[in-house]
Amino acid sequence: MASYTAIGPHDLNQLSAAARSELEHGGRMLIDGEFVDAPSKLPVIDPSSGKAISEICDASPADVDAAVGAARRAFESGPWRNTPPAEREKLLWRLAESIEEHADLLSELESVDVGMPRWMSRNLDVAGTAGVVRYMAGWPTKIGGRTTDVTVPIPGSEFVGFTTKEPVGVIGAIIPWNVPLMLAVWKLAPALAAGCTIVLKPSEDACLSVLALARLVMQVGIPPGVVNVVTGGASAGEALVSHPDIDKITFTGSTATGRRIAEVAARKSKKLTLELGGKSPQLLFADADFEAAIKGIGDAIFLNSGQVCVAGSRLYVERRRYEETVERLAQHAKSLAMGPALSDATVIGPLVSRRQQDRVLSAVKKAAEQGAVIATGSPEVESPGFHVRPTIVAGTRNSMDVVREEIFGPILSVAAFDDVDEAIALANDTEYGLSACIWTSNLSTAHRVARRIRSGKVAVNTEPLPYPALPEGGRKASGYGRDLGQESIESFLEVKSILIRTA
Ligand code: NAD
Repeated sequence: MASYTAIGPHDLNQLSAAARSELEHGGRMLIDGEFVDAPSKLPVIDPSSGKAISEICDASPADVDAAVGAARRAFESGPWRNTPPAEREKLLWRLAESIEEHADLLSELESVDVGMPRWMSRNLDVAGTAGVVRYMAGWPTKIGGRTTDVTVPIPGSEFVGFTTKEPVGVIGAIIPWNVPLMLAVWKLAPALAAGCTIVLKPSEDACLSVLALARLVMQVGIPPGVVNVVTGGASAGEALVSHPDIDKITFTGSTATGRRIAEVAARKSKKLTLELGGKSPQLLFADADFEAAIKGIGDAIFLNSGQVCVAGSRLYVERRRYEETVERLAQHAKSLAMGPALSDATVIGPLVSRRQQDRVLSAVKKAAEQGAVIATGSPEVESPGFHVRPTIVAGTRNSMDVVREEIFGPILSVAAFDDVDEAIALANDTEYGLSACIWTSNLSTAHRVARRIRSGKVAVNTEPLPYPALPEGGRKASGYGRDLGQESIESFLEVKSILIRTA
């Protein structure tokens, strides 16, 4: 078993006084403007050391009920619905600034909670979070309906017809652990921009940054009850989904949980957005800029140790460059510095939990048993944390589990294709449809292939980074509805038609 090079000590004394104080006090939930405790607790495990470093509340159904009640009052009779759009914009803008002012604290908490390397929590997660809130802050004053000419065959009659857009109401938002801060604002910011109130439940595996965000929400003056955060696992999530006072559920997480939630939402006629799992393909054409593609393909799968919904986990390479690609990718994977999340030298941090580490390692073992070649050697790493070595699994067939099942780890399967049609067929041969990457220097190949991939997103010559104005979401088992962009604002609005007889 290989051991990772110790590229920096993992010592919680490296944390700022503010972050250490957060860990000492433990996570409190935000309900109706108050930070409240709960008798039942869950541990916070640091993935870099495997040790418990703090605790969070395990919300009871009564806590969830109190949070939903507060959000309902804030929506119906409270200030939010009647806050003028320009004022909502100011508050969201202030929140974006406050996120930037507290960037160090948020990044530290994300790193110790998720195992996310500091370079990523600082430069992508926290910076991206502020960017999303700022983008959404521009929307409240732009929301509006349209007028239409109405002709009704009643002699002498005249009508005026128009539509208005109204907030959906009280939102129940449930998110996973991989990038908690950013995924929290993908829900919270458009919901608030649209005039909704919200109860947010982050994952029991990582939620410290979201609780810190909740404090910023209160500090910038967003009224009590507009944003509520409850913590806990599946039972808290179920209480939220089935609560009669929730008008819409917006969920990001696994396909299995999403399907369970869809059943409850259907029985209760709730609106629903589902952002689910993926098994996204990458297509490498022989004409691509090879140096850039090798690095980009690596970034698309290894970012956050592969714990990214849009991770490009299946690579198909044009046959004449297949051997060379496997060799270069294996070298690249081995060169990536693994280490504890708090070290500035770490490129690849640990996975979030022992459970996730076990799942990922057993997926690689199964791939070898089914005949694939592990080009990077053993993925196991001797370390106190939940590390898995970035791994290239070559010679795969689409029938293998490593190609079919979402692993959510730093594991890339590689196979060859002979022509464009075969490449597209292999890419689309999946139950998922979240994202795809195309690597080519031929513009017409890029356009032709992008149109034929069945996914919510296609990135060309880049890893599929999120951008606030571009919607994110999937097809097929990857879900429906969209986060980000104008589409996410629309998803928190209802359209009302108004018809007036004027003569
Ligand atoms: P998960 O489905 O286990 O949990 C997600 C959230 O749902 C957590 O907050 C969890 O507490 C809650 N939950 C669990 N059971 C529930 C239930 N019965 N009712 C209500 N809530 C419940 O997923 P995870 O392991 O936390 O996250 C990994 C998954 O998330 C992967 O499949 C990944 O692809 C997906 N993901 C998707 C996107 C996207 O945008 N499509 C983004 C990030 C992650």
